[in-house]
Amino acid sequence: MKFETKVIHSGVHPDPSTGAIMTPIFQTSTYVQESPGVNQGYAYARTANPTRTVLEDNLAALENGTDAITYGSGLAALDAILKLLEPGDQVVSTHDLYGGSYRLMVQLYQKYGIEFHFVDFGDDAAVTNAINAKTKLLWIETPTNPMLSIIDIKKTVTTFAHDGLLVCVDNTFASPYLQSPLDLGADIVLHSATKYLNGHSDVVLGAVIVKDRSLGKRLRFIQNAAGAIPGPQDCFLTIRGIKTLHLRMDRACRNALFLAHQLRDLDQIAHVYYPGLDQHHGHDIAKMQMSQFGAMISFDLVDDRIDAANAILENTRLFALAESLGGVESLIGHPATMTHASIPKQEREKIGLTDSLIRLSVGVEHQDDLWADLKQAICTS
Ligand SMILES: *Cc1c(COP(=O)(O)O)cnc(C)c1O
Repeated sequence: MKFETKVIHSGVHPDPSTGAIMTPIFQTSTYVQESPGVNQGYAYARTANPTRTVLEDNLAALENGTDAITYGSGLAALDAILKLLEPGDQVVSTHDLYGGSYRLMVQLYQKYGIEFHFVDFGDDAAVTNAINAKTKLLWIETPTNPMLSIIDIKKTVTTFAHDGLLVCVDNTFASPYLQSPLDLGADIVLHSATKYLNGHSDVVLGAVIVKDRSLGKRLRFIQNAAGAIPGPQDCFLTIRGIKTLHLRMDRACRNALFLAHQLRDLDQIAHVYYPGLDQHHGHDIAKMQMSQFGAMISFDLVDDRIDAANAILENTRLFALAESLGGVESLIGHPATMTHASIPKQEREKIGLTDSLIRLSVGVEHQDDLWADLKQAICTS
């Protein structure tokens, strides 16, 4: 089945008791048993819920995995993955990553004896030096947040993975429509479904997808034991959002490519970071491993002018100043004070995250309206 058909049909069946074509919201905590231990596959809703099951079956199909497990947020999903580790284990991660992932790793899991190393995955020697026998997890985000760097997933797997080392890809920025990490050799995919999968800025939800059933079982044990489940209404909304993922992404990616080219030609702008631009350092890899270049753009200003950056952030009318991304409406954000404030300034500077860096989540509005809005905000700043 093609992706565009899978988003609508995979795992989704009319409700057998009524014929309802839309998956019902099973708002229940428990299920009546015929006799002790005899049930219809559901006993208690922390363990499983039929609305959640439909979402999980759908996500497993979209990422070409065997199992998907969903959580109350993307970070709860990362938390479950980190619970696979033991004290003394080490993690090697991309140095340019979602600020909340960094915070969870460094401020929570480090104190339980897990060691984290953040390196530039564009530098093979740095990655090789960071990996040793204790390394159990490679953590990759691609495209990265907020610098939109591209990491070669296939090469990472073939060059660095050894027995017992799990390669995990945070696929939030690409979505399964643009990029299939499991097909490229990764073991685990993480999503903040809050973003493109749901796509309507009305749900916080996370997912992990794997292609190995025993790994899926371990994660399901952790989910049931620790309890970080999503509610049935949020699962319903995410199922509904996913049905238009391909349509939303096609439009948003097209808008982003257009805006990246327009921004590049403005004198006020120092750098435009967008993998779809020819001169982007990851453009060739992006062309290989993604079907389109995504809808996130970052740019910074000549002389790193913070006053001008603030003026732009305050003066857009369509682009709303807000955290998050991946919804139908366009958003503008300031990583240094918003999404990435939990990363120390000196760490931010190492990756080129300047104080004037502005991040756009391009939505599905008309490109001309989006450009007019950005241009008036930049040119009057
Ligand atoms: C938002 C985000 C997360 C965290 O997801 P939540 O649903 O907000 O918990 C993780 N990774 C990336 C790349 C994100 O953008």
